[in-house]
Amino acid sequence: MKIMKVNVMKKLIKKKTASRTKPMKTKQWNFPAPKRGEGRVFSKTKKAAMKMKKSSAMKKGSKKKAVKKTKFMKVLYVQHGNLTKKSRHERSSHKRTVEYFYGANDYQIVKMLIEDGILQDLKGTVCENCGKGALGSLKACKTKGFRYRCSARGCQNYMSPQSGHSIFSDGHGAHATSWQHQAVVLFHAVQNASQTICHLMTGKNHKTIGAIYETNDKCRKSDVENEEKKIVYGGKGTVWKDVEADEVDLGSQSLDHHEETEEDEKIEWEQWGGVVERGNRQTLMLTRLKPKKTKQRATGPGPMRSADWLPTAEKELKNRNVVLHTDGARAYQLNVDGMLHDHVVHMKKKLVVNGKVVKKNGLCVWIKPKYTKKFIHTLPSGKKITRMGGTQIIDRFWSHLRGFMKSRQVKVGSAKTSVRTRSAQWDYWRRGEDLWLETGKMLKRLAKK
Ligand SMILES: [Zn+2]
Repeated sequence: MKIMKVNVMKKLIKKKTASRTKPMKTKQWNFPAPKRGEGRVFSKTKKAAMKMKKSSAMKKGSKKKAVKKTKFMKVLYVQHGNLTKKSRHERSSHKRTVEYFYGANDYQIVKMLIEDGILQDLKGTVCENCGKGALGSLKACKTKGFRYRCSARGCQNYMSPQSGHSIFSDGHGAHATSWQHQAVVLFHAVQNASQTICHLMTGKNHKTIGAIYETNDKCRKSDVENEEKKIVYGGKGTVWKDVEADEVDLGSQSLDHHEETEEDEKIEWEQWGGVVERGNRQTLMLTRLKPKKTKQRATGPGPMRSADWLPTAEKELKNRNVVLHTDGARAYQLNVDGMLHDHVVHMKKKLVVNGKVVKKNGLCVWIKPKYTKKFIHTLPSGKKITRMGGTQIIDRFWSHLRGFMKSRQVKVGSAKTSVRTRSAQWDYWRRGEDLWLETGKMLKRLAKK
């Protein structure tokens, strides 16, 4: 009975997927192995059937068992050759929780922070006070708590574990914040909890919290700007990678003397451009753009301008085996060597043929917006590839960025805005990883420089 059922199912699936699977036999099939949907179901059963044939040929007596075992083969969900990771924050298990910080005494917490890379071990480094002696190991002092001590004659200076640290601070008397509290506030900042929530959970005042949040963001900014230089787009040889580009408006404000300025230069805008390779979130690159100033009630500064796009395109995408996907902005239509381009329509548009608006019964013909579309590209070698156009991946980052900017005032051109944007980029690069440990790695990298 079971064999019958399987056979019927196989036939059904074959019928359904017949149209999809036909091109597989021809040489022009450029997709990787199907990774989801009907195609994946088919390859699961196809592999299973192959295996069943083999096993049944080997031992004829135990057919039933063979069928049961090989009903479905495991076909992994794979994208660009890398296994796809799911990020489920509610199920993830990370190294530290609040319990660790509040449950530790002063010595334990300093050791713990050094282990995680949040604090750097100063043992053996040169004393900041005299510039000659080396620091000893961390020891308890009677009055000062835990300190490193300089060994040089005549100096004997005591150094606290957080001296010279970019995030943790050393306070005196009423202003001192304990290790435990500082660690918990930083933990909130790392996990992207709002400052209000952090205040409610820890009871610390807004100045302490704000300072730690801000320095954390500043560290992220300098780290991202260092790491961004290492990004390389595109594939090698016959591999062509999909890259998306888009721009976003984060906010606007009227100029200081806007009564005196000209009518169409009253509002300035904060606009950022982004480029990302699909399936590789660590390639997200951001640049601040210089859009035109606009009239008082303009809806936006308009799309990306050629002057803004040209440097990025020439530097990052030229001759890199890249298929670029964008919206319809004219700047992206720039011809770049060794790059293919397609664009989707994000706004309804009038149909124009040979420079004339097409009219039907005296009315304009409108093209509806289409956010994704299949494109067939011809590679320089003459080979054809089918790719999906659209800017879904980078659009999702824009909404992530808006979440970061929520309840914050966006001042055009301010350092705070760019720091916060870079912080969102840092967070996006490391989605799904243990952010506390990543912060430790970041601080280690920054301490080296
Ligand atoms: Zn010294």
